[in-house]
Amino acid sequence: MNQIEKQRTRSIKCPICGKGKLMDASKTINPKMIRLFKPEESNKAECFVKCPKCGSQVGFAVEK
Ligand SMILES: [Zn+2]
Repeated sequence: MNQIEKQRTRSIKCPICGKGKLMDASKTINPKMIRLFKPEESNKAECFVKCPKCGSQVGFAVEK
């Protein structure tokens, strides 16, 4: 990853283990707009990603 890519994106970490990187989000987005949901709250989520570290199914939704 080069310097420009580092500046453009921020890593969204797994809320369960805090280690796995779920995705890269653009820095133009306010991180408060990205809501992460644990499996027990998955009914509130719009999309799902699987944590590469702990294997949890983490839901997320982007507020506008
Ligand atoms: Zn995890």
